[in-house]
Amino acid sequence: MAAVDYDLVIIGAGPAGLTAGIYAARARMNVLLLEKAVPGGQVLVTDWVENYPGFPEGISGYDLAEKMRVQAVDLGLKIDTSEVHSLNISKDSKEIVLKDKSIFTKALIITSGASPNTLHVGEDKFVGKGVSYCGTCDGPFFKEKTVVAVGGGDTAVQEALFLTKFAKKVYLVHRRDELRATKILQERALGNDKIEPVWDSIVTGLDGFFGLEGVKVKNVKTNEEKTIKADGCFIWIGILPNTSFLNDSVKTDEYGFICVDETMQTSVSGVYAAGDVRDTPLRQIATAVGDAAIATLSAEHFIENN
Ligand SMILES: Cc1cc2nc3c(=O)[nH]c(=O)nc-3n(C[C@H](O)[C@H](O)[C@H](O)COP(=O)(O)OP(=O)(O)OC[C@H]3O[C@@H](n4cnc5c(N)ncnc54)[C@H](O)[C@@H]3O)c2cc1C
Repeated sequence: MAAVDYDLVIIGAGPAGLTAGIYAARARMNVLLLEKAVPGGQVLVTDWVENYPGFPEGISGYDLAEKMRVQAVDLGLKIDTSEVHSLNISKDSKEIVLKDKSIFTKALIITSGASPNTLHVGEDKFVGKGVSYCGTCDGPFFKEKTVVAVGGGDTAVQEALFLTKFAKKVYLVHRRDELRATKILQERALGNDKIEPVWDSIVTGLDGFFGLEGVKVKNVKTNEEKTIKADGCFIWIGILPNTSFLNDSVKTDEYGFICVDETMQTSVSGVYAAGDVRDTPLRQIATAVGDAAIATLSAEHFIENN
């Protein structure tokens, strides 16, 4: 194998990347973690986490992310603020291309996570002016206002419930006639006086001049259209993998999530993926952390044998 800068490089410092970093640092590997923004990933925009073991009262997303970061750094992990632009990888050479330099590594773990999907109804114009993908971050700006929440999964329902702390009314627009969220969340949402479900409906447009004033919705069964007067629109309609830098270097599924085997190895030996960026039936902190532990052990074996 050609000369390398590191034994292991990890891309993305969410729960998966930080866990891989903790395991690699404890194994005294020559490791670098690259993060384009602030370590913590999606957990940083999560208000309250109550399903991660060890915190029976729950913990704020910020505090959990910070605990993970501190644990990793205290163990000696080096975290660089750099965005990965592309990869040139094969079985024998792994080049990670950053803005102004390239790094070569023996093994690579991709933990670049995922980002929210968009509605494609011109919401770009209103981001920061009423449209948001993060209730935790922007909910407090909508005190005593009317908002629309779009989606029917766990995140949408959890965030809609969070919005009721501030908004006077939350319309929950969902394209089906029942929610996908876990039963306990459904019960809480449907039992909340401030939440009004708008069933069988999709968002077709956004109205407003300087800021958002209304959300156009269409009933997919009756084709009836109406505009809900609203100051905010929160969108949680699924996520897309953060894989623009991959250049088809590893195999992905039809949605772009990275395919791995049970050792978290991708289609290229020595390249692993963990957490939300991989094809997985569940995208949570606990699963991201578990994937990352397996990926790091697999990377360690690869480095020892190559
Ligand atoms: C609003 C909300 C609420 C949630 N609530 C819960 C909850 O209560 N419980 C739970 O278990 N899960 C929850 N989740 C899901 C959980 O946050 C994710 O499953 C988890 O964060 C995935 O971790 P990850 O490390 O795989 O990816 P991410 O957290 O997405 O982290 C990926 C990191 O990679 C970085 N990155 C991306 N591309 C690059 C690049 N090219 N170069 C360098 N760095 C890059 C990103 O900046 C990011 O920091 C919630 C998610 C959201 C959005």
